[in-house]
Amino acid sequence: MGFKSRARKRRGSAESAGSSKDSESSEEYEGQVRCDISGCENWADKSVGGRKMAYDRAVDVWGSSGISRKVRKVSLCKPCYRKWKKEKKSEPREWE
Ligand SMILES: [Zn+2]
Repeated sequence: MGFKSRARKRRGSAESAGSSKDSESSEEYEGQVRCDISGCENWADKSVGGRKMAYDRAVDVWGSSGISRKVRKVSLCKPCYRKWKKEKKSEPREWE
C-alpha cells in the first residue's frame, strides 16, 4: 500500500505528452484543432484549454448557424467554452 503519492486526480486524462515542447514556444501558437464556432479563429487544442462538446449543446448557445461545421462533437477554444459556460449558468439548473 504505498500508492499515496501517486494519487490520481479525477479522470486519468493527464496526458503529459512527452515530446511536444518546442524550444521556441513564445511565438504564435500553432495548434491542430480549430474552434468550430463560426467567426472564431482560435485554436481549440487541449493544450490551450480547448474542449469538445456535443453539437447539440453548443447549438443551445450559438445556434446551428453559429457553428461552422456540423459534427457530432464540436471543438471549442477556451474563450468560447467560457462563454458557453456563462450562458449555461444563467439557466436555473444544477446538473453539474
Ligand atoms: Zn472559439
